[in-house]
Amino acid sequence: MVLPIFATVMANENTLQNIIAHCKEYGFIFQSSEIYDGLAAVYDYGQYGSELKKNIRDYWWKSMTQMHENIVGIDAAIFMHPTVWKASGHVDNFSDPMIDNKDSNKRYRVDHLIEGYVETLDKEKGDALLAQMDQLLAANDFAGLKTLIEDNKIKCAISGTVNWTDIRQFNLMFATEMGSVADDANLVYLRPETAQGIFVNFLNVQKTGRMKIPFGIAQTGKAFRNEIVARQFIFRMREFEQMEMQFFVRPGDQMKWYEYWKETRMKWHLSLGIPQERYRFHDHVKLAHYADAACDIEYDFPMGFKEVEGIHSRTDFDLKQHQQYSGKKLTYFDTELNQHYVPYVVETSIGLDRCFMMVLSQAYKEEDLSADGKEDSRVVLSLPAMLAPIKLAVLPLTKKDGLPEIARELIDQCKPYFKCFFEEKDSIGKRYRRQDAIGTPFCVTIDHQTKEDQTVTVRHRDSMTQERIPLASVRDMVMKAIQAF
Ligand code: ATP
Repeated sequence: MVLPIFATVMANENTLQNIIAHCKEYGFIFQSSEIYDGLAAVYDYGQYGSELKKNIRDYWWKSMTQMHENIVGIDAAIFMHPTVWKASGHVDNFSDPMIDNKDSNKRYRVDHLIEGYVETLDKEKGDALLAQMDQLLAANDFAGLKTLIEDNKIKCAISGTVNWTDIRQFNLMFATEMGSVADDANLVYLRPETAQGIFVNFLNVQKTGRMKIPFGIAQTGKAFRNEIVARQFIFRMREFEQMEMQFFVRPGDQMKWYEYWKETRMKWHLSLGIPQERYRFHDHVKLAHYADAACDIEYDFPMGFKEVEGIHSRTDFDLKQHQQYSGKKLTYFDTELNQHYVPYVVETSIGLDRCFMMVLSQAYKEEDLSADGKEDSRVVLSLPAMLAPIKLAVLPLTKKDGLPEIARELIDQCKPYFKCFFEEKDSIGKRYRRQDAIGTPFCVTIDHQTKEDQTVTVRHRDSMTQERIPLASVRDMVMKAIQAF
């Protein structure tokens, strides 16, 4: 049945477009350098977006470093010694197979081109094609991939033709020069992942923190990739942020810890209030050069199931490489085994921006509230209270009679604990809708009755129900709702 599938795709595409428009209209995300017509695949977070992003980052950071006694955090520099990237394999291997259309000169990542085509097929045919693609990618069979593209008559979206070049590899790292003399010796890279900052500090942290295996090192920070096909909003950016954790284990224990982190990370995702059916695991057929097992956690985005997080069992590849290239020993002495060894590593790696897009896609709702012949609707972000940019909006019913003063007093009492918002303009209904659109879980209205009996009306975002509670209990009510752990 072609029609319903097409209809679903259209509806989802509209949802994505609506989310992008909403992000701009309400100060979540702007195109970078917009007044100069923007910079492709680079975005800025606005006043509410930066709060939401920080809240997601903080929640991840705490769940790693505060809730696990054996995980500590670091903040390594973006620039690293160029040999790091030789050792890690990025100089030689960090590339994607690309294909160009000869008529439009448009370049595509081969897997994206095929995946885009699969979206137009029914599920059975699409899955079969993806399985074929996975196998060819795993075998680095570029001629086979090209034949697959040609046999399926996959067209370029711009020229509409099937006139393709051969498939080639392109490195995704950005390079720049450090210092004043431009020669090869000064070439540095913008890091394409944060993980290497952890590997090169493995011994520093282990020794100074007296860490015992198994232990983890966590880090959040910017990463840069010269993505050829950068699309789908903040899903694939050229400058983005990662939240990574490397967990160092005894050789031989890695599969146990790999399973542990698969389960633990899925629990974290579910703790965002997102139901299980919106997630799935995707086990890798083609393993990266460093991995002995790997999977992705995929979320059902408006454009379908896509990776948000990777969990990789990286063996002792990275530490051994750095040992070899630096000439420094990177071994651990295990007192229980009375043995020196290079630890194995299980890594969890999630994109903060992609996680932001996931949280937003899940939270974004267009609701029809028409009743009794009166048309009405709202856009609401049903964000988990702990992640919402603003936790409490305090709204005096009128601008006079001392009501704004009571509102200000309440805000003064609450603002050391969480972010509040004061607004006295427009009708209460309009003010509620504006808070719904940015995901504020609680609105409190101060009215004349407040002056008499010290109570306020609390309006709940998702249910839109209202209740009267004592003014003195507002702060605790919000504190309870935003408690993460
Ligand atoms: P993809 O296959 O989508 O390119 P990847 O497998 O290369 O991703 P990893 O190298 O495993 O990604 O990076 C870990 C995480 O970093 C990803 O799960 C994703 O959330 C995030 N990430 C990677 N590349 C980008 C990007 N260009 N823009 C935004 N987030 C990204």
